[in-house]
Amino acid sequence: MTSELDDLYQEVILDHNKRPRNRKKLENADRQAEGYNPLCGDHVNVFLKIEGDRVREVTFEGSGCAISTASASLMTEAVRGKTLSEAKELFGRFHGLITGEPGETSDGPGLGKLEVFSGVCKYPARVKCATLAWHTVKAALDDEGEVISTE
Ligand code: ZN
Repeated sequence: MTSELDDLYQEVILDHNKRPRNRKKLENADRQAEGYNPLCGDHVNVFLKIEGDRVREVTFEGSGCAISTASASLMTEAVRGKTLSEAKELFGRFHGLITGEPGETSDGPGLGKLEVFSGVCKYPARVKCATLAWHTVKAALDDEGEVISTE
């Protein structure tokens, strides 16, 4: 069971690292944030287009290791179409999954494919790679106009 999960984890990470989804600059973005993980050298810019209280489009640009790229790619798929509060709820759940400290759970959106990252909590050095895009999108959702660093 554990090795099956590891295989799935590897497969999804490799796929999203090789062919990242929504990796482009979003022209006329409503919100934007920049994140940096000095520990690994991962760098990501997240762009949001908001319509009403819903994330209409979300894209990213950046360079980094396979986990940070795959995580950013999966993040864009997960957040797109969500309301702002659903997106923040997802951040909380994902963060809880990765750090092994699940916060309060409610009936918000499930993690689905993002659960492949549960294996990351076994590798503490990789946790920041996996959460970088999420910290950055949260900053964009909160409209904090500053560079986010995981350190
Ligand atoms: Zn990294």
